[in-house]
Amino acid sequence: MKRPATNAILQPGFKFEDMGIGGLDTEFSAIFRRAFALRLFPPGMIEKLGISHVKGILLYGPPGTGKTLVARQIGKMLNAREPKIVNGPEILNKFVGQSEENVRKLFADAEREYRERGEESGLHIIIFDELDAICKKRGSSGGDTGVGDQVVNQLLAKMDGVDQLNNILVIGMTNRKDMIDEALIRPGRLEVHVEISLPDEHGRLQILKIHTGRMASNGILEGDVDLMELASLTKNFSGAEIAGLIKSASSFAFYRHIKVGTTAAVSGDLENIKVNRNDFLNALNEVHPAFGVSEEELE
Ligand code: ATP
Repeated sequence: MKRPATNAILQPGFKFEDMGIGGLDTEFSAIFRRAFALRLFPPGMIEKLGISHVKGILLYGPPGTGKTLVARQIGKMLNAREPKIVNGPEILNKFVGQSEENVRKLFADAEREYRERGEESGLHIIIFDELDAICKKRGSSGGDTGVGDQVVNQLLAKMDGVDQLNNILVIGMTNRKDMIDEALIRPGRLEVHVEISLPDEHGRLQILKIHTGRMASNGILEGDVDLMELASLTKNFSGAEIAGLIKSASSFAFYRHIKVGTTAAVSGDLENIKVNRNDFLNALNEVHPAFGVSEEELE
């Protein structure tokens, strides 16, 4: 494998937060060491070590926690090509053999390029979103056509073929790791498992900073907004829900400035909109976390 060009992640002072993803430093460090530190070794080192590159990563955890962001970022960190992102259910097709063909096609470009350019070929990343939809434990499909079983078999065959290729990294994402066929997530296939969980208070503060960054630098965030206070008030929120909260607060701010009338839909001083603490408190009454709220916390 061609050694990637000098990468931002290896520069002094680099922070994972700079990538626009908050609260996942530990997870990124784990991915970096376990899945691709080896890819940054000098060419030939892997052969000298007598090991193989990691072929696949499984990112699992609740919805909206940043798995897709992380998967895309892995590609950037490795100077890979634009990843192919495949939605699990979309690849299933009712026509016999078509689903396996769809999986086969995903790997075809990387295979062709490896045949033509060998170790000089660039890194191809294939991301499977909602992997559980297509890679359920085999035989668990009950009365349906067993299309899922055939897809799992094809994917296993392809993952084993990656041994000879070295220019493919497969990333699977799921909210239901327990449902995935074990053969696919054993060593040598999707072998590095990283849980992406709900952010803690520090992580929420990072995510709030990232998502209010633009309004702060444009002078639209009122001085009374205390992000530390918001981080403590957003227990159990995912990153996506924090983004939703900021959107909701912005809509409250906008609404304060407009007058909706019967003839003129919108009027008012739109240039001077500021999002203030009260807008966030209103938003907190509107946007609630979907996961992890106990009955006591709701009381
Ligand atoms: P799903 O399991 O539902 O597919 P996911 O875990 O893949 O969800 P993403 O699609 O990566 O979640 O996140 C959705 C959006 O939420 C992102 O585009 C981003 O705006 C925001 N977000 C989620 N997590 C983070 C985070 N850790 N840092 C910054 N933004 C985040």
